[in-house]
Amino acid sequence: MSTEYNGYVTEETIEGTEDGPLAGKTVAIKDNISTEGVPTTCGSAMLEGYVPPYDATVVSRVKEAGGTIPGKTNMDEFGMGTTNETSAFGSVENPAAEGHVPGGSSGGSAAVVAAGDADMALGSDTGGSVRCPAAFCGVVGIKPTYGLVSRYGLVAYANSLEQIGPLAPTVEEAAELLEVIAGPDEHDGTTRDATDHGTDYDFAAAADGDVDGLSIGVPTELVEGADEEVVETFWDAIDELEAQGASYHEVELPSVEHAVEAYYVIAMSEASSNLARFDGVRYGPSPDYEGNWNEEFAKVREEGFGPEVKRRVLLGTYALSAGYQDKYYKKAQDARAWVKQDFDEALSEADVLASPTMPVPPFELGESLDDPLKMYLADANTTPVNLANLPAISVPAGETSDGLPVGLQLVGPAFGEKTIIRAGSALA
Ligand code: GLN
Repeated sequence: MSTEYNGYVTEETIEGTEDGPLAGKTVAIKDNISTEGVPTTCGSAMLEGYVPPYDATVVSRVKEAGGTIPGKTNMDEFGMGTTNETSAFGSVENPAAEGHVPGGSSGGSAAVVAAGDADMALGSDTGGSVRCPAAFCGVVGIKPTYGLVSRYGLVAYANSLEQIGPLAPTVEEAAELLEVIAGPDEHDGTTRDATDHGTDYDFAAAADGDVDGLSIGVPTELVEGADEEVVETFWDAIDELEAQGASYHEVELPSVEHAVEAYYVIAMSEASSNLARFDGVRYGPSPDYEGNWNEEFAKVREEGFGPEVKRRVLLGTYALSAGYQDKYYKKAQDARAWVKQDFDEALSEADVLASPTMPVPPFELGESLDDPLKMYLADANTTPVNLANLPAISVPAGETSDGLPVGLQLVGPAFGEKTIIRAGSALA
């Protein structure tokens, strides 16, 4: 197995337990998804050597479907990043674009699929972390509707935003994996049964490439600010769908102007609370306790967390603090409600909404590390979808003149996975 691009944190084979639809397939698992008996680090020194005592629900389902897990994939620390450069275990290189980042935070998952070192992979998407690396590595990634897939066993970063989702070379394979992991789970009270929402779980069968009569809305706000070559490649993909019988019209999502700000306030606030458990007692290396709890607690977190995680815990704690809550957190929640409403309106006049997945092609390795704001702004097209809890897919749209992959994002209504799968499968 070639790992020179650093896609795996742990290479250890976990065999499937039964014969099923994934028999003979390898499914790599992002390292923030718990695997019984196999280390799960979240890309953090804090969890180096941590071995979960149970499987995440998605892992049990992959095993029961006959899938073989070849290892745990590298990722931005606790899912915080857009380039996979915040991992405590080193950056991942993009196998589809040497010298460039694979995208994040599920960069390892996308890279091992792009390199052919796993047939499929699971990632998690809090603000784009499945779609961004799929786009940057030239593979397919799906972020499911909030509640379609169990989060039991996923180490929480920002739980009101995130979902586990599949990555694969084709839409049909990604849909096959989604079919295996989707559905209610007694261990996660936020899961929902798709059949209560007027649909079923036959996702792979929906990948029939039939876009005849499909109505595509293109939100001007998600195309305008993007890199010129990304925009050209995006329109080529829309032309291709049009040639196959789809039609498009422009729509407006005025609220998305505030989406990145709202997303980061909410994500950091939730992170500051979720990451409180890494205190050296519940999780993390045990301190040499010398009698001063505050000092030991601070030392464990000082040594265990990287700079991006510290930045977010500090900012999130600030945004939630008495006196500032109304100014930041509450405002962000208002913006979130507005974003949801805008999507509902746009989707009442279109079957799917289309945009470039990422407004930029993959960064060069090291390029965005010193400028967190630049990294955050790259999430402009993906974060609104998480705020609205909607499903979205990223499919390869083509390449820039330098051969850098560009992704097309298709967003559907809640539990509209089959519609975005059908539309995406016309391209990949
Ligand atoms: N880049 C976004 C962030 O850093 C999204 C990450 C993710 O989806 N886990 O929060």
